[in-house]
Amino acid sequence: MHIVVLAGGIGGARFLTGVRAYARETGAEVTAIVNVGDDVTMHGLRICPDLDSVMYTLGGAADPERGWGRVGETWAVKDELAAYAAEPTWFGLGDKDIATHLVRSQMLNAGYPLSAVTEALCQRWQPGVRMLPATDDRFETHVVVDLDGEKAIHFQEWWVRHRGDVPTKRFVFVGADTAKPAAGVLEALATADLVLVAPSNPVVSIGPILAVPGLRAALTAPVVGFSPIIGGSPVRGMADKCLAVLGVACTAAAVGGMYGARGDGGILDGWLVDSTDAGASVAGVTVKAVPLWMTDEQTTADMVRAAVELV
Ligand code: GDP
Ligand code: CA
Repeated sequence: MHIVVLAGGIGGARFLTGVRAYARETGAEVTAIVNVGDDVTMHGLRICPDLDSVMYTLGGAADPERGWGRVGETWAVKDELAAYAAEPTWFGLGDKDIATHLVRSQMLNAGYPLSAVTEALCQRWQPGVRMLPATDDRFETHVVVDLDGEKAIHFQEWWVRHRGDVPTKRFVFVGADTAKPAAGVLEALATADLVLVAPSNPVVSIGPILAVPGLRAALTAPVVGFSPIIGGSPVRGMADKCLAVLGVACTAAAVGGMYGARGDGGILDGWLVDSTDAGASVAGVTVKAVPLWMTDEQTTADMVRAAVELV
């Protein structure tokens, strides 16, 4: 069985540890298609937060407390940049992490596509799943805000600098009109037996993946999504703030409705909600309630088993 997972950063990475555990038990093959909308260039370095969260987590090198970046990180370069008052000062770049960005930037500058760069970085981390960026083309999530007049800022600035706490009009996926799925993405979806939508941020993690032209149409295998909202709360992170911008309620049912039923212009065949949300319904979609707290690998693997049973 070939399982393809659409994933964002931290939630996606945690979910993938469970998918990998399930795959090890059953002999399934796993491909992760990871959001690149958060990607940004800072201090001349290309940074891919979601790809790195997945790679470090599956590689056993993520910092579990901070949630992002490397465990045992040091911050000498950040301190030195601050001493030069080099902008942006609000973005934390760890020393170990910078090595990743140096290798990536050098390869991108030499003309390698992001998919090939990711594969090269994964030779070190051995994530145990195939990792693909959603697209190799420039694709960034920007946010239209009202800060002394209307302007667009990069998603990272909205998220990290402002904590989403500014009057926000909309999200814009820069490059979405011309981007193509990355090398390997359409092939992976064509050979998938099951597509899982990780309980990632639906607006700024899964939304940008689905916005890559041609990707939605390639979802021909059964698609089962996992609610990132439990009992009206985004668990960790700021999915509630993102959903509010779109006018979507912060509930498991509303997020399922936002993805929509396959027969109805949407993508879902099945939607898994947490046990506390039992009774939630999405028109045209099979909804089932199971525990969705990703407390450890086995519990998360059980979520995957529930999705397989659903289809
Ligand atoms: P990011 O790119 O690092 O922000 O991470 P993701 O977009 O992949 O995932 C963030 C989302 O995961 C959060 O907004 C939460 O809604 C969701 N999430 C985090 N932990 C859990 C969990 O244990 N269970 C479920 N169902 N959702 C979770
Ligand atoms: Ca992210």
